[in-house]
Amino acid sequence: MKAWPDVAEILLEEGTVQNRVAEMGRRISQDYKGRKPLFVCVLRGAALFCSDLIRHVDLPLRLDFIAVSSYGASTTSSGEVRIIKDLESGIEGGDVILVEDIVDTGLTLSYLVQNLQNREPASLKVCTLLSKPDRRLVDVKVDYVGFDIPDEFVVGYGLDFNQRFRNLPYIGVYNSKPEDG
Ligand code: 5GP
Repeated sequence: MKAWPDVAEILLEEGTVQNRVAEMGRRISQDYKGRKPLFVCVLRGAALFCSDLIRHVDLPLRLDFIAVSSYGASTTSSGEVRIIKDLESGIEGGDVILVEDIVDTGLTLSYLVQNLQNREPASLKVCTLLSKPDRRLVDVKVDYVGFDIPDEFVVGYGLDFNQRFRNLPYIGVYNSKPEDG
């Protein structure tokens, strides 16, 4: 597929993403056989990934959503995380799989993991489509990773820049410098 003008390069083609998501779903189905996990999708970025992922999970799962404050119009982490929409499900004693779009510095994820752990689930695992290991500032355990990617600002397949590009079926590198907004 042709890249948009603001997309410098396609990093992960649609088919590559879809194949990997299907693989991750099958893996989770095996790992959680006989259990009924709750998938917690982190809005908004992970919405597309999570909805594709769960269609490859052959388990009596449940789905809930949580939203945290994001970077806004900036492409760098503020380090400040705040829950702006909480879960509707109680998770105490349950098996929880937290589904993220991307782990960058790890600050958002470590906040979320701590917050959910305080609610005393039986288990909590983390599944992310993308990870930028070179950018990590805090050590946070990620159980399922779709792709390790280099330190580039990426858009597409749920990931935005200023709320745009979420509908691209592939993952691309954003063209402009962050301050171009
Ligand atoms: P962290 O707290 O790990 O630094 O950042 C996690 C959040 O930052 C992600 O959930 C995502 O919203 C945003 N983010 C980090 N890197 C990128 C990127 O390359 N592209 C986009 N669109 N968002 C990113």
